[in-house]
Parts: sequence; C-alpha cells; structure tokens
Amino acid sequence: MAPSGSRSIKKGCQRVLYWIPVLFIALIVAWSYYAYVLQLCGVHTIFGLVYVSLLAVVYLLVYHVIFIMFVWAYWQTIFTKPMNPLKEFHLSYSDKELLEREDRGESQQEILRRIAKDLPIYTRTNSGAIRFCDRCQLLKPDRCHHCSVCDKCILKMDHHCPWVNNCVGFSNYKYFMLFLAYSLLYCLFITATDLRFFIKFWTNGLPDTQAKFHILFLFFSASMFSVSLASLFTYHCWLVCKNRSTLEAVRSPVFRHGTDKNGFSLGVSKNFRQVFGDEVKYWPIPVFSSLGDGCSFPTCLVNLDPEQPVSPTGSNPANKSAAEVRQFPSKPLRDSQSRLLTSTPSWTESDSAADKDKKGQITFHSFQLLISKDYHKLKIII
Ligand SMILES: [Zn+2]
Ligand SMILES: [Zn+2]
Repeated sequence: MAPSGSRSIKKGCQRVLYWIPVLFIALIVAWSYYAYVLQLCGVHTIFGLVYVSLLAVVYLLVYHVIFIMFVWAYWQTIFTKPMNPLKEFHLSYSDKELLEREDRGESQQEILRRIAKDLPIYTRTNSGAIRFCDRCQLLKPDRCHHCSVCDKCILKMDHHCPWVNNCVGFSNYKYFMLFLAYSLLYCLFITATDLRFFIKFWTNGLPDTQAKFHILFLFFSASMFSVSLASLFTYHCWLVCKNRSTLEAVRSPVFRHGTDKNGFSLGVSKNFRQVFGDEVKYWPIPVFSSLGDGCSFPTCLVNLDPEQPVSPTGSNPANKSAAEVRQFPSKPLRDSQSRLLTSTPSWTESDSAADKDKKGQITFHSFQLLISKDYHKLKIII
C-alpha cells in the first residue's frame, strides 16, 4: 500500500488535473468573447472613445445578455456543492458496531432493513437488498449514488461531469440544464450573426486583416458546439420530462415490487416543476428553485407496497392525526413537496375502485401521504 503522504500528493495532482477541461472551456469562451466583440463587431477606440456601428450595437446587446446568463449558469453548475444525504441516513455508532459484529450478509441486511423501516427509502439493489454505502457508512436515499470521483454519496446523482468538474445532482441539476440551454443559445447566436461574414470570407468580401481568421474559426467552433450541445440538451429535456437521471436512464431504479423505469414520473408538468420549481419567473434564472429536499421523492408505484409503513395497523390513515402516524421526516414536509401532492388541473381524481384496479394507484412516500389532509383524494388515475 502506498504511504499516505504519496497518496495525498497523488490526490492533489488529480484535483489539479480535473480542472483542465474547465480551463479549456474557459479559454474558448474568453477567446470567443474577444473574437466576437473586438473582431466581428469591430469594437475599437478612437481618441479614447469607443467606436462601433449601429448594427453591431444591437448584436452586442443581445450577445451580452446571453453571455452573462451562460457564464452565470456555468459558474453555478461548477461551484454549487452537491448535496449529501441527511444525518438520518447515516448509521449511528451503535448500529455501526452491530453491523461490524455480524459477518453474515443476511444478518447485516436484517439490521439495515430495521434501520430503513423508519426512513423514506423505497428503492433497492438489483438483488432486492437495502442500498448501503460502505464507503460513507449510510443507507442510500432513493436516487442517491456514490460518486467515485467526489468520493461521496450525491443526492439524485445524475452524472459526474468533467466539463464542470462537479457532480451534477439534486443541488445543481437546474443550473446544468440552464448551462446547456444558454451555451446552445450562445453558439446559435454566434453562428447566425457570423454567417454573413463567413459567406463574405469565401467570396473575398472581407478586408485582408487578422479579423477574417477569427470570424472563420468563430463560425466553425460555434456551429460544431451547437450540434453537440443541441443533442445533449435534447436528451436532458427528455430526461426531465420523464423524471429520470442519466444513471436511471441507463439502469432503471429497482423498487420493492421490481424494476420501474417510470417509478418517479408524475407527468411532464410535475416532472418539469420538480426540477425548475413552481414560479415561472425563476425558471430561466440560475437560482435554486427545485422542489423537494433531495432525500425523498414522490414515487409512482404500480401497486401499494404492503411493507410500507403508511398504515401499520391497517386502519385508514385519514382518520388519524398526522402526528400520530408520521414516521419521517423529523423536519416538516417542505411547502414545495406538499404542492406536488396537491391538486393541479392536469391530474384527474377518481374514487372508483374499478378504475383503481384497472389502472393502478399512484401513491407517494408514506410520510407525504400521511401529512396530507387530502389523503383519500390521492388515488389518482394516470
Ligand atoms: Zn457513499
Ligand atoms: Zn462526482
């Protein structure tokens, strides 16, 4: 085994190397700014005064709005710390000791099952076991995965992105989406406004200065990035509409009743709001507005799971007060999560038993159901 000193040097070097793709993007963006503003729009100074043509003023105004939003979203994606599971999901000291004493897998699972009973955990491993992270010593919340690069468990992990040197997950997925959207818009705008200069280049209509080469490369790089960003952005739009992370698109989440690729989907509108929030004014701005706490998610289960602690005694939970039956969380349900449960025009409600049998029931995590006053109305047909 390598000594700890050399290991920390190796880690330090790795950490520096991870910033190279970010630096690469930053340099390209800086060059594109120089090429567009100073070369293409021809901004220059005469006797200390900025000189620019009228059409270029319009170009520059639009360009700077897109540029600022793009850099802002990119910054937020890079520097927003990924969220880790709450302390409720970590093993207590006594549970750790208990787990270490047991060497049989089944006995360890028994202990984990007991701990998981009080937590809003509904997904399992492929073999049906409780999802446990050995490295972080915690029970993984639904949609949480351990990132080997960050060496942490990341809530609603989507993927580790080398271009932002950060994990894309619950805390920054909206920023990542906006980063893709604004970078695509940035490239498309440059391509569109550069097109007539690009045509002039090939028809010898441009003066023979160094600006013509900047204009040429600006067009090539912007159009190439547009193609790759458009495909990535389209794919992530599809993921948002389906309420899937990239990891879940590759491997569907496993619930107690089996694999269900649409297990977290609540319909396009609600799926979109889960990422972008309820308030339209915040949708295009890179500020946090996602709904939920990242540890638990409304889940669409085909069948009610008898193991769920929704109604431990078999009685109708609607008859009990929330305080009596609530098992989780210790903190109150966020207003945003509550809103995901309450009525919206896109949802059809029905109490018909026949309909329930036919189309299945949508249910949510136990604690969410129990604190909702309209529990009996949550049998919703999709
Ligand atoms: Zn972990
Ligand atoms: Zn990571």
